[in-house]
Amino acid sequence: MRERIYLASPHMSEQGFEKQYIDEAFKTNWISPLGPNVDMFEKEVAAYVGVRHAAALSSGTAAIHLALKALGIREGDLVFCSSLTFAGSVNPVLYERAIPVFIDSDSSSWNMSREALWKAYQVYPSPRAIIVVNLYGQSADYDRIREVTEEYGTPIIEDAAESLGATYKGVQTGALGDIGVFSFNGNKIITTSGGGMLVCNDEEVVKKVRYWATQAREDVPWYQHKEVGYNYRMSNICAGIGRGQLKVLEERIAKKKFIYEMYQESFADIPEIRMMPVCAYGTPNYWLSCIILDRSCRLKPFDIIRALAKENIESRPIWKPMHLQPVYAGKPFFSSVEGDIIVAEDIFNRGVCLPSDTKMTTGDIEMVAGIVRQLFGKQ
Ligand SMILES: *Cc1c(COP(=O)(O)O)cnc(C)c1O
Repeated sequence: MRERIYLASPHMSEQGFEKQYIDEAFKTNWISPLGPNVDMFEKEVAAYVGVRHAAALSSGTAAIHLALKALGIREGDLVFCSSLTFAGSVNPVLYERAIPVFIDSDSSSWNMSREALWKAYQVYPSPRAIIVVNLYGQSADYDRIREVTEEYGTPIIEDAAESLGATYKGVQTGALGDIGVFSFNGNKIITTSGGGMLVCNDEEVVKKVRYWATQAREDVPWYQHKEVGYNYRMSNICAGIGRGQLKVLEERIAKKKFIYEMYQESFADIPEIRMMPVCAYGTPNYWLSCIILDRSCRLKPFDIIRALAKENIESRPIWKPMHLQPVYAGKPFFSSVEGDIIVAEDIFNRGVCLPSDTKMTTGDIEMVAGIVRQLFGKQ
């Protein structure tokens, strides 16, 4: 049988760059956490993004957790969050016993709505931080978000877990907030098998983050601890994979864009299908190619997901908004102002993430598009 087609799976370089860095780690016995690959991976990501300092961590979720700690978030503090996102971007708010306040998306970018954000400030004028997500590889509109947050002096954590390599007005995502966060989980545009990174121009913040990530060990000869720490650092082996992957990031982005454009072309004659919008203010990394079905469409997302699954092809619904999740029941939510539609719910109800794996051949992409086209009665 044909091999399964995935949504987004790890894709090591054809040249074997990752293996070279791992072999080097084996030769020098730098297997343990930390080591030269970690130091270099931090420097290379910081240079790529255009931020001065970086801390390699065990996951993107860990990076968001330590970003919240670095901003001094404590029990009972309010943190504004994008609702249309993956749980990893919000769960750390609860780790610190702070309170998430969910903000709706706008339909032009699927990212945080300035209007909904403004509404939230009318009720809660003093959040301690805001976590803005760059969804599916496209930057949020930071100039418009900052118009609101700057008035209140709220620091921005930029959740760029899905958007490494995307830009906003010529600036790399991750460099747009006060603290930026990346994920190198297996499904992301590049992977370390599992990992994350926190980037920040303030060296003190990054030093503090490294300290918390290594069990808050004091710099003395014995094990001395004044604070609660975490085991959040990246291993030298994982960082070696990351260094190899970074060399093919541009190639991966080009392929993701090719996949998006092939779907776009394939569905051009089906008015009930629209691609996720691409905003003129930046260049996405096209991490996942998503479609949204017209409200009048007789087919629902699960009709497409089921038809693809029958052919051993993976696709997914859009992230279910956080304000609809049982674990976040009762937390405040502010919707954007687009008629009586709650945009994040509407996108969830009508959207599908199509397979966007960079290992797909042109024939694979044509086949996926063909299955969808057939559902709409097209050859
Ligand atoms: C993947 C992801 C995270 C979490 O990253 P992990 O490395 O899986 O912990 C956070 N936010 C968003 C938007 C993500 O897609």
